[in-house]
Amino acid sequence: MFSADSKSSKIHIDTPIRYLKGVGPNLAKVFAKIGINTILDLLYFFPRDYQDRSQIKRIKDLVSGQQALVLGEIKNIELDVKRRGFALVRAAISDASGIAEAIWFNQPYLLSFLKRGTKVLISGKVNTNLYRGVLEIAVKDYEKIEGEKDWDKIVPVYPLTEGLYQKNLRKLIKEALSLCLIQIVDFIPSGILKEEGFPPLAKAISNLHLPVDLRLTSPSRSRLAFEEFFLFQLGLLLMRKAREASLQGIPFDPKVELISQFEKSLPFALTNSQKQVIEELKADMAMAKPMSRLVQGDVGSGKTVVALFSALVAVAGGYQVAIMAPTEILAEQHYLKISSYLKDFSIKVQLLTGSIKAKQKKEILLALAHGEIKMLIGTHALIEEGVNFKNLGLVVIDEQHRFGVRQRAVLRKKGKMPDLLVMTATPIPRTLALTLYGDLDRSIISELPPGRLPVKTYFVPKNKRRDSYEFIRKEIKNGRQVFVVCPLIEESETLTIKAAQVEGELLQAKIFPEFKVAVMHGRLKGEEKQAIMNSFQKGETHVLVSTSVIEVGIDIPNATIMIIEQVERFGLSQLHQLRGRIGRGCEQSYCFLFGAPLTEEAKQRVKALIDSNDGFKIAESDLQIRGPGDFFGEKQSGLPTFKVADIILDEHLLRLAREKALQILAKDPKLENSVYGPLKQQIFKRYGGFLGLESLEMLS
Ligand code: ADP
Ligand code: MG
Repeated sequence: MFSADSKSSKIHIDTPIRYLKGVGPNLAKVFAKIGINTILDLLYFFPRDYQDRSQIKRIKDLVSGQQALVLGEIKNIELDVKRRGFALVRAAISDASGIAEAIWFNQPYLLSFLKRGTKVLISGKVNTNLYRGVLEIAVKDYEKIEGEKDWDKIVPVYPLTEGLYQKNLRKLIKEALSLCLIQIVDFIPSGILKEEGFPPLAKAISNLHLPVDLRLTSPSRSRLAFEEFFLFQLGLLLMRKAREASLQGIPFDPKVELISQFEKSLPFALTNSQKQVIEELKADMAMAKPMSRLVQGDVGSGKTVVALFSALVAVAGGYQVAIMAPTEILAEQHYLKISSYLKDFSIKVQLLTGSIKAKQKKEILLALAHGEIKMLIGTHALIEEGVNFKNLGLVVIDEQHRFGVRQRAVLRKKGKMPDLLVMTATPIPRTLALTLYGDLDRSIISELPPGRLPVKTYFVPKNKRRDSYEFIRKEIKNGRQVFVVCPLIEESETLTIKAAQVEGELLQAKIFPEFKVAVMHGRLKGEEKQAIMNSFQKGETHVLVSTSVIEVGIDIPNATIMIIEQVERFGLSQLHQLRGRIGRGCEQSYCFLFGAPLTEEAKQRVKALIDSNDGFKIAESDLQIRGPGDFFGEKQSGLPTFKVADIILDEHLLRLAREKALQILAKDPKLENSVYGPLKQQIFKRYGGFLGLESLEMLS
């Protein structure tokens, strides 16, 4: 009693979460993992959905085709293993009025804590299973109910991770609200709130957690999304101002002999769109103002060679180049590719990753500092301390969406205002890109190299799985190679890896005993990954089973087949990126989608993927399919994590935020008026790390 009371009396919004009653060290760790460290962080952890419990239906009133919320008792529960890799948990659920079947897909572990006699509240879509003669509920959310029924009419449903429980979260957040809500002070200028009809901060927060009326959640959510965009835009704009004011970059001479020699040495002709982007890069590099350019191009459009042109401009000018990629595999791929492009040129190219031995690393760093190494290609290892260039003239960052503004800034600081080129395959619509990458100019590689055959994509129903394996067997015999992608299991990395391993063993033992199957996943050591990739690259491994770590950048033209398991678990854009690993050579490539896309959305995603190979088109479909009302969109790392805002669905708020930010800065370019004190603090607190700001003063 005593300790609990003294605990709560000290609580402030910035108090570490462990001081909240009911949060022990273990739970605090779970929270820390998802970025919740203080009470305020907890208050900013918003529901992904709501349940209106006044709408609980009697089983006898369920209607096929509708969403329903049902409260009942489990009468029987069992695992129904379908063909390999596919399991259903079925539970007979009854209330006073009747009985129905609840089904969960691929969550066999439920059997250990949902037992006969357990009371559950489930929501999901109702369907009449004519074959079995029952009403089925495909469960979307479920919750064990123990005794009490004194719940609020509208109950928030929070996103969960391993170790977080719905009921516990609700209680903690309610407690935090009652202790701290009154301490919350708004920092958005009140004029903006009035003009846009946004509720004040404390109101918005409580409306989202404990809505009395679901109609109140929408303006509250908008306000919080706006807030995130607004702070971020202000941060970006303030930074750009600061940079433009002071900087003197390197004026390169792009009309050098080396460039034309290099172009002549290429085994192919550049596409027009590659040529145009190269011209844009050269023009930028020729200027004294440092280049900051984003090159966007669909997977396989040939971004690497484009980047190499600008790298050679820098090298010809006597400068060094750093090329940073998000994973070791990708860095190594770039290294091999670039070395082979440059084999007839005496330009020293070096790879630097975390798995390079200390002794060799020392030599590399020395050669780098002396300027012998002209191009250093690597991972995050490049931004470590101790990596010093003699004269860094150009920084190239691949797969930009994996890196943040901060990492960009750190690498850039290793030279005196080097040029910057970032590359991405993420198709972001133009206006959005302008706003998001507000500090970058943009070029687009809009065509693929000629002669590429579009990948043929098929959805394979369960009973055709065997046939597709036979087809694949023939292709492997003809010398082709195969990627098998297993999904990320949201609840746990361990399960994710396990799934890939099991799949690999199965394929090796039962399906392709005559071929070599290897498994790749995120927990392997750098060297192990390297060895596996080398073997695959050389064609010694025929089938590479992997978790979605291969999503980015891998270039193995001989791999012409991809199997994607449990396709329903992937987002559309992610599927497109994955598929981009094949279709890179002149052979026909095939993508086989396995799984059970049961929801309408999943079906549409599969259809969109089958129908198109074009990244921009697919991004558009993605947007349409997801539609409004999706609280938590796909994560884009390399952009800040917005907790509420969705960069695609909330585009109008993003524009509004930019407009308002520009307006404020037009009147007060450095936000010097003291009324902006709390606003600046928020910018620094939320996005300072992302923007690479070392102190609040850097914003002035
Ligand atoms: P991405 O844009 O996905 O990074 P890459 O730069 O890895 O693409 O290029 C994909 C493949 O296409 C590589 O094997 C590369 O050598 C090849 N390539 C690049 N440009 C051309 C071109 N103009 N004509 C033919 N092949 C090309
Ligand atoms: Mg690439």
